[in-house]
Amino acid sequence: MFTQSAKLANVLYDIRGPVLEEAERMEAAGTRILKLNIGNPAPFGFEAPDSILVDMIKHLPQAQGYSESRGILSARRAVVQYYETKGIRTLDADDVYLGNGVSELITLAMQALCDPGDEILVPTPDYPLWTASIALAGGTPVHYRCAEEDGWNPDLEDIAAKITPRTKGIVVINPNNPTGAVYSKELLEGIVALAEQHGLAVFADEIYEKITYGDAQMINMATLTGDDVLCLTFSGLSKAYRIAGYRSGWLAITGPKHRASSYIEGIKLLANMRMCANVPAQHAIQAALGGHQSIEDLVLPQGRLGAQMDLSARKLNEIDGVEVTPAKGALYLFAKLDTERFGIVDDERFALDLLREQRILVSHGSAFNWNRPDHFRLVTLPGVEVLDEALNRLAEFLDGYRQH
Ligand code: PLP
Repeated sequence: MFTQSAKLANVLYDIRGPVLEEAERMEAAGTRILKLNIGNPAPFGFEAPDSILVDMIKHLPQAQGYSESRGILSARRAVVQYYETKGIRTLDADDVYLGNGVSELITLAMQALCDPGDEILVPTPDYPLWTASIALAGGTPVHYRCAEEDGWNPDLEDIAAKITPRTKGIVVINPNNPTGAVYSKELLEGIVALAEQHGLAVFADEIYEKITYGDAQMINMATLTGDDVLCLTFSGLSKAYRIAGYRSGWLAITGPKHRASSYIEGIKLLANMRMCANVPAQHAIQAALGGHQSIEDLVLPQGRLGAQMDLSARKLNEIDGVEVTPAKGALYLFAKLDTERFGIVDDERFALDLLREQRILVSHGSAFNWNRPDHFRLVTLPGVEVLDEALNRLAEFLDGYRQH
């Protein structure tokens, strides 16, 4: 008998769980499913700018061997220069680690830090890889509240109340997946002040940094953490540059590195153990960061993503029993369902019922470590006609839906 290891007991990643498996079974049986469950830009017509592809192809002959485990120097320098344009001047190329997507670097950063009993503060709702990686590393994820009634902003009082002597760091996802919130400077400064007061590291997941709507302004955490707070910034090419499948991301470490030398040695060790990130995709970083910032034309008012987000928020709010806070950034809406009206006690079942009846795949809220069955996440990547039709079908489905 082969059984999975005990360390997986508390590891959950339900955005790719049973509901997706059912969708895959239905697809294998010939049913067409509208996938509004994963932020994967390319299948919805958001293809990478040619300049990135051409540059990668051009470099293929030089990308045959392993690279340095941190990543190729030209790409790490490009990351340094990119953050310099944002006002972050203390970053050195040796503080940058390239990975097979941000995902690999998140698990690596948690593995290198956590001992049993160590606590990391994570938002609820969260992007579930954070909670899963902390649990896998043997640490304890402690969820702090993001307040829907306050535009999904993190509740600073709740964060402060949950800090203990075992707290090592705090995860901040900005712009946020799944809520679409983009945090103000004051709010980020409030988080930094708590981190400084309690000697915590800040883990800034900024993979959606270029995807903001209207007048929302994304502020990089490392511009605020300065010399006193250790900041690990995670970003990459999957979303803004639409090449999620190539797997290319980076981790940039700023702040009091002398106080974190053992931790950084641990990160280096784990980076060495996996040899290096996929080398052809590392070459895309310089082309992307130096080149045309293609996502920007898509999110401007006349652009595709902004129009899709507006339509989705408006149509969701028109459905009786559904309410949503319009997103200021990222690719998602985290919508609230009136559980009494629909008799919903199990949000995974809600997602399965919607899938089976309307062939629309969404992610249920509890997959994001949200502890009530009253939310689901919608991806706003399809064109407006497709979203319009999908949301009409959702309204039709909910009209008369009762789970109990
Ligand atoms: N962080 C957040 C908040 C995400 O939403 C995602 C992907 O959806 C990731 C990290 C992982 O991205 P990558 O493709 O770089 O592994």
